[in-house]
Amino acid sequence: MSILPQQNSLLKSSHQYATKRYRIIRVIPIRVRCAAATPVKPNPGLTRIVVKPSSTKPTPAKPPTPKGPKPDDPELKSTWEHRAWLASGCTTLLVSLAKSIVASTDSHIWAEPILAGLVGYALADLGSGVYHWGIDNYGDATTPLFGGQIDAFQGHHKWPWTITKRQFANNLHALARVITFTVLPINLVLNDPTLLAFVGSFSGCIMFSQQFHAWSHSTKSKLPPIVVTLQDLGVLVSRFEHAAHHRAPYNGNYCIVSGIWNTILDQNKVFEALEMVLFFQLGFRPRSWSEPSLEWIEETSSLPQ
Ligand SMILES: [Zn+2]
Ligand SMILES: [Zn+2]
Repeated sequence: MSILPQQNSLLKSSHQYATKRYRIIRVIPIRVRCAAATPVKPNPGLTRIVVKPSSTKPTPAKPPTPKGPKPDDPELKSTWEHRAWLASGCTTLLVSLAKSIVASTDSHIWAEPILAGLVGYALADLGSGVYHWGIDNYGDATTPLFGGQIDAFQGHHKWPWTITKRQFANNLHALARVITFTVLPINLVLNDPTLLAFVGSFSGCIMFSQQFHAWSHSTKSKLPPIVVTLQDLGVLVSRFEHAAHHRAPYNGNYCIVSGIWNTILDQNKVFEALEMVLFFQLGFRPRSWSEPSLEWIEETSSLPQ
């Protein structure tokens, strides 16, 4: 194969270029440095900009400040005034029942008073539901006569556990006072054994409804076995049933004696109908319509350990 003069000169020049390039490559030292490991000399001509986080040390999260009463809060303790009102309430009930028994013995009538006592027990559950619905939904701490009860029941929705720490007379004294003022005059004028049995049973269940309510908030292990049995039989309001009252939509299971009226009232939307009537006739808006207002929601930050 012949090589043309042009081809020959081309080969020569490319050889010279390659030789020159080789020389250049040989004299230039090539270093490869690892930037991460090699210290970099500061260049005085350059300004280094360092972006620092707002705080170098992480601030430890503060525990939530407990609100509401504490388990040993003096507000949950009974005073001598509470005990005195409880004693007068219990005396009033005993007077009703004693007079009924004496009158039954004298007249040899037993069936009617016993039946009246059972009716009183059943209607007390209904009464507790209507009253509880009323003070849960209407008024506030400044409402005349009922302000204290309204405030207490609204506080109960925020801190339900406090009812289990409240001492016996502290929990019952308000209702005992009401029973004393209303039932004692009735006792003085009534002599009918059946009526006295009804009054004694009804007012007794109303007065102790707050204790039945407290038991419905306790755990099984902390309750006397007889109370657990009565709850399981449906004689007293059950823990399961009352727990539903403290869950959204907060508009049912108001009855706190036996709870037998809860299903009837809630399924037939009796309280909802009453709320509509009060709103459209009188403009009173029930608190349960504002759900999920903070007033209804349990504050768990203050739960006792
Ligand atoms: Zn309630
Ligand atoms: Zn409750």
